[in-house]
Amino acid sequence: MLQKNELITLTITSATAEGSGVGRTDDGIAVFVPQSAVGDVLTVRILKVKKTYAFGKIEAILTPAASRIEPDCPQFRQCGGCVWRHISYEEECRLKEQKVIDAITRIGGVQTTFRPIISSERVDRYRNKAQLPLSRDREGKVRMGFYAFHSHRVIDCSDCALQPAIFAEVMRVTREFIGEYDTSIYDEATGKGSLRHLYIRLAEVTDELMVCYVVNGNGLKHEDVLIQRLKEALPNLKTVVFNSNREKTNVILGSKNRVAYGSGTIEDELCGLRFRISPFSFWQVNRRQAERLYAQAKAYAGLTGSEVLLDLYCGTGTIGLTMAKDCKQLIGVEVIPDAVRDAEANAAANGIQNARFLCADAPAAAEQLRQEGVSPDVVILDPPRKGCGEDLVKTIRKMAPRRVVYVSCDPATLARDLKYFAENGYTTGEVTPCDMFPRTAHVESVCLLSR
Ligand code: SAH
Repeated sequence: MLQKNELITLTITSATAEGSGVGRTDDGIAVFVPQSAVGDVLTVRILKVKKTYAFGKIEAILTPAASRIEPDCPQFRQCGGCVWRHISYEEECRLKEQKVIDAITRIGGVQTTFRPIISSERVDRYRNKAQLPLSRDREGKVRMGFYAFHSHRVIDCSDCALQPAIFAEVMRVTREFIGEYDTSIYDEATGKGSLRHLYIRLAEVTDELMVCYVVNGNGLKHEDVLIQRLKEALPNLKTVVFNSNREKTNVILGSKNRVAYGSGTIEDELCGLRFRISPFSFWQVNRRQAERLYAQAKAYAGLTGSEVLLDLYCGTGTIGLTMAKDCKQLIGVEVIPDAVRDAEANAAANGIQNARFLCADAPAAAEQLRQEGVSPDVVILDPPRKGCGEDLVKTIRKMAPRRVVYVSCDPATLARDLKYFAENGYTTGEVTPCDMFPRTAHVESVCLLSR
C-alpha cells in the first residue's frame, strides 16, 4: 500500500486526456504525475492515495524520456494553461492522436479509419484571444494572468507564449493605469470590487485589435484616460468595449456590452471570406489551423453544388459560409443572438445570398426544420464540449442526410455521439484529429459519417 509522502521509483508509460503522465506501481496502482513525459524514469513523491490510483509529483528525474525538452516559459510550472511545454511537439502530436483513437475505440466502441493529426505550423503565439483574470493578493499587489491548474488562484504574468506579443503591451498599459489610478479590482470571495477580466482579441489578417474590460458595474473610474493610453500605445486599436458582469459567477462575460471606442467589432479573414467579430461571438482562436480544419470538413462534405447544407452550432457562420458557394442552400443554426447577427452580416458582406440563419437551440431547431419538411443532404455539426447528444442524432436520422460532418473539441463526447450515430444508421468512415491548441491538452477532430 502506498503512503502519503512516500518516495517511489516510477516509469511513466502513458498520458491522461488532461495531459498528466501515468505510471504503474508493481501492485498495479496507477500514479498520476503532472509534467512528466512518457518514457521518464522518476523519483516520485506520493501526494494523495486512493484505492486504485494515486497522485504524485516529480522529486527527481532519474532517466529523462527521449522526447523531453527544456520548458521555455517561466510560468509553466504553475500556470494551468499549457500542459506540454516539456516534450517535443512530435511527441505531443502522437499523444493527441492516441487520445482521439482511445476515446473513439474504447468509449465509443467505434471502429474506423484514423488519419494522421493535422499538426500546427506554429506552436507558439497562435492564439488570437485572451481572457485574463485579475485579482489582488494579500499584500494588495495586482495580479493579472492565468489561473493555476484546477484553481482560481491568479498567476501573475507579463507575457504568454501562446499569445501575440501585442497582448503583453495591452496588459502593460492596463497594469500601469491600474497602478496609477488605484483601480478597484474584483474579489471573487466577497463579490466586491470592479475590474474582473481583461479580454483581448486580435484579427490576424487585418491586424485589428479589440480590448474589452469586464467590470462589476458599468465602467471604470477614469476610463477615458485608459482608452487614451491604449490608443497611444496601440496604433492598431480598433475598439474598446466595457462588458458589465455583476453576477457572482465564474462565467467571464456578463450580458451587456457598452462600446467606449470604435464600432464594438473587429473584422478578420478566414478561407478567403471576411468576418465581423463581436465580443460575444465565437471565433476560432487559432485562425490558421481553423482554415486547415475547415478544408478537411469541406472535403468530407463532398459538395457538388446541388445540396442543402445544414450547419448546426454555426457561431458566426464560418464553416457553412466557407462552403456556401459549393451548395444550393445553406441553413445555419446558432443559439447566441449576437453571433447570428454576425453570421447574417458576414453572409451579406461576402455577397452570399443562398444562406439563412436561425437563432435557436440546435436540437430543437433541427426538429422544427424537419417538421417543416427541410431535408438537408449534408449536416455539419460543431457543438461545444458537451457534444450534440442523442436527441439531435435521432432527429438527424429522420432527416436522413447522405453525410454528416462532425467537428468536435472533445474526443470523449464525440465518441459517445458517434456511438449514437452508429445506433441510428450512420457509420463513421474516417476521423482526422487536428491540433488547434498546441501545448495544451485539447485536441479537435473532424469526422465523416455516412448513412
Ligand atoms: N462552427 C463555429 C462555432 C463552433 S463553437 C465555428 O467554427 O466558428 C460552438 C457554437 O455552438 C458556439 O457558437 C455556441 O454559441 C453554439 N451553441 C452552444 N450551444 C448551442 C445550442 N444548444 N444550440 C445552438 N448553438 C449552440
